[in-house]
Amino acid sequence: MPGLGKPLDVKIVGGGLAGMITAHQLLAHPRPDGRPYQITIYESAEKPYTTLCGEGISDENLRRFAAFDSFPHVAQTFRGAAWYMPGDKVIHVEQKCHTIERATWIPAMAESFRKKGGKLVLNKKILLEDLPHMAYDVLIGADGPGSVVRKYIGGTIDIKLGIQYRVKHSSYATDRLEFYTDKAYCSEYAWIFPKDDTLNVGLLADNPTQDWKRLDRFMKDKGVDGKVAVREAYPIGFNGDKVADPAFPNVALVGDSGGLTNPLTKGGIAAVILSSEILAQCVARDELALYNERIMTHPIMNPAYKKAVAWIAEATNEEIARLIRFLPKVTRSGDGVPKSENRWTLLKTFFGNLDRLQDVRTIYRAMSLSRRYSW
Ligand SMILES: Cc1cc2nc3c(=O)[nH]c(=O)nc-3n(C[C@H](O)[C@H](O)[C@H](O)COP(=O)(O)OP(=O)(O)OC[C@H]3O[C@@H](n4cnc5c(N)ncnc54)[C@H](O)[C@@H]3O)c2cc1C
Repeated sequence: MPGLGKPLDVKIVGGGLAGMITAHQLLAHPRPDGRPYQITIYESAEKPYTTLCGEGISDENLRRFAAFDSFPHVAQTFRGAAWYMPGDKVIHVEQKCHTIERATWIPAMAESFRKKGGKLVLNKKILLEDLPHMAYDVLIGADGPGSVVRKYIGGTIDIKLGIQYRVKHSSYATDRLEFYTDKAYCSEYAWIFPKDDTLNVGLLADNPTQDWKRLDRFMKDKGVDGKVAVREAYPIGFNGDKVADPAFPNVALVGDSGGLTNPLTKGGIAAVILSSEILAQCVARDELALYNERIMTHPIMNPAYKKAVAWIAEATNEEIARLIRFLPKVTRSGDGVPKSENRWTLLKTFFGNLDRLQDVRTIYRAMSLSRRYSW
């Protein structure tokens, strides 16, 4: 390409959600100097596929990913989410959201990436020992929770296993994505996310000998009928300590490789969309040195999430019910809900829990930020 300079050689390890979204974000952020990208993605699987996911995503964050038309892959649309809490309380989050069919979305992004001139190398598992010999201008780790690129630059993440059934032929119906915090099933939460003719029903695992039995009991208690077609488990990466390291100036992590999933909600799709946008801007402007700070100070990494989930995971149902005892049976929050609607409830909750004021503030902050940045 005369006049534009040698293409910038970008190598991406991992051709899953984060790899495909990042490649599209890069192509949508051309460099001001006109230097084109030459992007190669290495994927260990023999064809583009999706790892396990509940597939819930807010309309706002899906729309934000404008580099690819994802909407043909939306399976079902909801008016919002319902978070069921101990003490027979429910929080209705009034915010349009979807379940997305990742099994078609990721292959469609792979196809689009190829059409835009990208090189997708399938059946290629990159090993840790390959990395020091790899040639690149920029190397991106999008290789999920077990990332070799993260091991290369020396980052750490926390891991939690998610387990899920794909349920077919169910008569269970809801117009919201449903979350359940109830220690009868698990320490964090269980979910029911309808997806067209399928229900994604899962929980965040605590104990390998009990988790599937608890998920069965959860389904029975909630009246979820139908046939379990698929039973899957997969790790989730969160609480990452860095996404880049000055000792490796041209290397960056994105998605679960960098532990960017929200620790409280375990929503990772929005984190991929938001972080890959920042990464693409940094690459385009030759500002990769600023990427780590931009991510670690972004609301997707707010320290309140870690503290809030630690409190929730350790608390009993009775302790949670006591903390939220002033909430009405149904609390509404989100789009179109005036702040004044919850003012008295919040004041009572703050003043009624003076012995736990710090916890209440942290949980409130984590939940408010999650609504925008984590799904
Ligand atoms: C049960 C469960 C439910 C979830 N529900 C939701 C939800 O409802 N909403 C939400 O927003 N998030 C959810 N998440 C989180 C979300 O699925 C993840 O955050 C997201 O998939 C992370 O994408 P990723 O591309 O970073 O990693 P991955 O999905 O793990 O993809 C990594 C890719 O890299 C490839 N790869 C790995 N190692 C190598 C290597 N060495 N060489 C080459 N290729 C490699 C893999 O084959 C894979 O294709 C859920 C997660 C789980 C487990």
